[in-house]
Amino acid sequence: MSVEKVDTLIVGGGQAGVAMSEHLSKCGVPHLVLERHRIAERWRSERWDSLVANGPAWHDRFPGMEFPGADPDAFVGKEEVADYFVAYAERIAAPIRCGVEVKEVRKNVGRPGFRVETSHGVIEAANVVAATGPFQHPIFPNLVPEDARLLQIHSSAYRNPGQLPEGAVLVVGAGSSGVQIADELVRAGKRVYLSVGPHDRPPRGYRGRDFCWWLGVLGKWDAETPGPGTEHVTIAVSGARGGETIDFRRLAAQGMRLVGRTETYNDGVMTFARDLGQNIARGDANLMSLLDEADAYVARNGLDLPEEPDARKLDPDPECVSNPVLELNLAEAGITSIIWATGYTVDYSWLKVDAFDDKGRPKHQRGVSVEPGIYFLGLPWQSRRGSSFIWGVWHDAKHLADRISTQRKYLAYHAAKRETEPA
Ligand SMILES: Cc1cc2nc3c(=O)[nH]c(=O)nc-3n(C[C@H](O)[C@H](O)[C@H](O)COP(=O)(O)OP(=O)(O)OC[C@H]3O[C@@H](n4cnc5c(N)ncnc54)[C@H](O)[C@@H]3O)c2cc1C
Repeated sequence: MSVEKVDTLIVGGGQAGVAMSEHLSKCGVPHLVLERHRIAERWRSERWDSLVANGPAWHDRFPGMEFPGADPDAFVGKEEVADYFVAYAERIAAPIRCGVEVKEVRKNVGRPGFRVETSHGVIEAANVVAATGPFQHPIFPNLVPEDARLLQIHSSAYRNPGQLPEGAVLVVGAGSSGVQIADELVRAGKRVYLSVGPHDRPPRGYRGRDFCWWLGVLGKWDAETPGPGTEHVTIAVSGARGGETIDFRRLAAQGMRLVGRTETYNDGVMTFARDLGQNIARGDANLMSLLDEADAYVARNGLDLPEEPDARKLDPDPECVSNPVLELNLAEAGITSIIWATGYTVDYSWLKVDAFDDKGRPKHQRGVSVEPGIYFLGLPWQSRRGSSFIWGVWHDAKHLADRISTQRKYLAYHAAKRETEPA
């Protein structure tokens, strides 16, 4: 039986796969995208029901197409985001085959290229682009035993408040997912504890411009990948209800109980670090520094943007911050469920090539791996802060398509040279 052959195989039909297809088409590189479910499946079915984009529609999109029918300043819902990528893929006639899972990729022996085992047979590819997402596997800390008679789910499995049993909820992690989920639960009448670690919290808007605009003009989306060992700091932002600045003091005033970083669990008792005040102060400092930079930018460029002194006003620390709970008996607090909003990791167990460090992380430069012919796309901080976001992945894909096309030209040159050589 003949084996299907393709020049460049893209694994994953999310925004990264669609962007890659667009740029490869522009470079004239024959390719195929394999997606195990549907286009942009994660937006469709692996997020909570009420999720809207964290950035406004004018910003969180590819350059080539606006969100059809959306107010550019609106934060579009997750289904509209998924629909956008389906429409985009149609518009660029992306060769995407859905319902096909890549099971294994191995190097060919004694010749270039890769053998790709899929759920629908074998494909041979000269290049493979792993576009399987920055957030593949939920990080689920092994802290509370399964028999603790609590519902424990990761934020990726949270859908809506109705899914949880009666009783209070502990949400661990106050990045964009944790804080939005905790807020939704408080609004649904739940008693909620939120475990808050170090975080950045930019203002939703300042002086009439969204923070996405400020991060853009201040060059912060283009900030380069932090060096190895740099601590990852989560960012707490939300587009919910038209977009609001995340303000932990306001959330506490609305009834949310804040605690520090979750540390241990023993015999029904959870302990929290003493770092809550420090974490809140750090978030405040991050907010203020962005306001300072924004003001300096306005002054330097003589922009006519209205002053907004109220953005710097902070309410006094609530009781839960000034006198933080360090130990909590979960049963006594009435807690019946825990939501771990503790992030994700990558899983390339299907990619059997020598392109990873001893922790399983891709070894690459801007997505070009150390294994010739293998490329990564959509990694957090692949080339800059914006890399895993909608617009950022589009730019990284352009770079990879350029690299793949350049490599093909080298190979074509040698082939052409051989043809002209005397026999
Ligand atoms: C809660 C949340 C909210 C976010 N909000 C925003 C936002 O507002 N704005 C923004 O710009 N970014 C946002 N992001 C970040 C980012 O845009 C998304 O995570 C996005 O889904 C990443 O796209 P991707 O194509 O790189 O990966 P994914 O969307 O994860 O796509 C990868 C695809 O690969 C497929 N796949 C995986 N393994 C295989 C295999 N072996 N074979 C075949 N197919 C496979 C998967 O089914 C999936 O469809 C958010 C992320 C999260 C978690």
